[in-house]
Amino acid sequence: MASPKNPSSSGRNAEIGEQAMIEAILEGSPEAIGVAVIRFDCGCRKMAAVDKDGEPASKIIMYRDQAESICPQCQQDNGDIMRVTKQFIHWAAPEPDMAAKTNIEAKVLGTQTHQVH
Ligand SMILES: [Zn+2]
Repeated sequence: MASPKNPSSSGRNAEIGEQAMIEAILEGSPEAIGVAVIRFDCGCRKMAAVDKDGEPASKIIMYRDQAESICPQCQQDNGDIMRVTKQFIHWAAPEPDMAAKTNIEAKVLGTQTHQVH
């Protein structure tokens, strides 16, 4: 029954990963069936919960991994669409059916059918 020494796990609350952030948003948004995640080329992210009709179920949150605040670029342009590198919806369990997903994605993220496969 050796108890390995744990490295101190205190402080550092700026290190919130994307997954933890998604879970926090879902927890705070009872209406939400998913969270829209938009990643920017600078490393910042924009997130918002969406409800079953594809309407926003939370306010839009911008954050940056391991940082107190978003970068100067984002503070200036508020996350310009031109700098988006990836966007998707993280579905909460149980996930809606395919048709509903497609519908909501189109509504929330726009119709981007020309993505590289
Ligand atoms: Zn940024």
